[in-house]
Amino acid sequence: MPFKDTIINLVSKFSGGMSTQNYPLDYCIPLYHTVSDETLPHLKHLYPYKSEKEFEKDLDYLLKYFNFVDWDGFRRFQESGNRGGKKVALLTFDDGFSEFLHVVAPILERRGIYAVNFINPAFVDQQDMLFRCKASLLIEKIKSEKVDISLLQNISGLRYGATDEICSHILKTGYKKRVLLDLYAEAIDLDFKDYLRKNKPYLDLAQLQELKTRGFGIGAHSWNHPYYSELTLDEQLETTFSSLDFVKTHAFLADAFAFPFTDFGVSKSFFEQLYRRCPDLYSFGTAGIKTDAFAHNLQRIPMEHDSAANILPKETAYFLLKKPFKKNLIIRK
Ligand SMILES: [Zn+2]
Repeated sequence: MPFKDTIINLVSKFSGGMSTQNYPLDYCIPLYHTVSDETLPHLKHLYPYKSEKEFEKDLDYLLKYFNFVDWDGFRRFQESGNRGGKKVALLTFDDGFSEFLHVVAPILERRGIYAVNFINPAFVDQQDMLFRCKASLLIEKIKSEKVDISLLQNISGLRYGATDEICSHILKTGYKKRVLLDLYAEAIDLDFKDYLRKNKPYLDLAQLQELKTRGFGIGAHSWNHPYYSELTLDEQLETTFSSLDFVKTHAFLADAFAFPFTDFGVSKSFFEQLYRRCPDLYSFGTAGIKTDAFAHNLQRIPMEHDSAANILPKETAYFLLKKPFKKNLIIRK
C-alpha cells in the first residue's frame, strides 16, 4: 500500500471514521459516469464503473449521511446555507451515456433520488465519440483480435514498438492529437461510426428530453470533452459557452457546468469571464473534498474506483490531514 494511503487509513481510524459531524462540508457531490452489469468496450480500458448492485450499495451508504436534493434544492441550500438540518447530496453523472436512461434512471426513480447528467453536445445523437472512448475501442480490438501492428508502429512513430507499448501510447493520445486515433482505427479496420450506430452509447436528444420530463437535470460539460490544459483561454471559453448555449437552447439546466476531466490549472481569468457572462452558474470539478476560491466552483467526489463506504471515510481523513497545512482551498492564478 502506498505511504499516502497508509497515513490516510491511520487518520481515518483515529478521527473516528465517517460520521455526519466528521464529514467536513455541508454538501457531498458524488460523480459517476455510468452503471452497468455489461462490459462496455468504449470504457473498458479507461476506468472502472459500477454494477447495478454496487451502485445501489453506494446509494444506501450515502443515504445514511445525506439528503439527496434536486437542482433547485441544491441551489437553495448553497444560497441560504445549512440551517442545522441533514447535510445534502447532489448526485451527478458525466458524459451522457445511454445507461443513464436504461439502468440508472429506473433505480433512482424507485428510490426518489434526483441526478444531473452533464453532457457534450458533440456526442448527442451518436454524432461522434469522446476521443478517450475511441482509444479504449482501439485497445480492445488490438488486444482481442490479431491485428497487423506494423501500420500502428508507423503512425505512432514507435517503429519497433511492441503491442503493449503501442497500446499505452494510444491511451496517452491527447485531445489535440485525437485525429491520430482515427488513423489508427483506419489502419486496423475499426469503424467508430459503425460502433456508434450499433451500440448507441450516448443519449439521443429525444432521450435527454424524456429524462428532463421525468425530472432529471441535464447540464453542460464542454462541447466535445477536451483537456482544458491543452487549450488556450479563448478555446476554453468557446467550448464552455457553446455547450452552455446548447443546454439553454433545449431548455435544460442553463446554470450548471461540469469541467471535462478536471478544472486543475484553469485560470482565475477563465472563472472571472465565466461568471461575468453567467453570474448564476455553478461549475463543478473533480478534486474530491475541497473548497475553491471561487465560491460557485464546487468539487465533486469521483466514486468509481472503490465503494462509497471506502471512499468517503478516506476523503474525509485526507481533508483532515491537509487542514493544518491549509491545503484544502484551491487558489486560482
Ligand atoms: Zn466527462
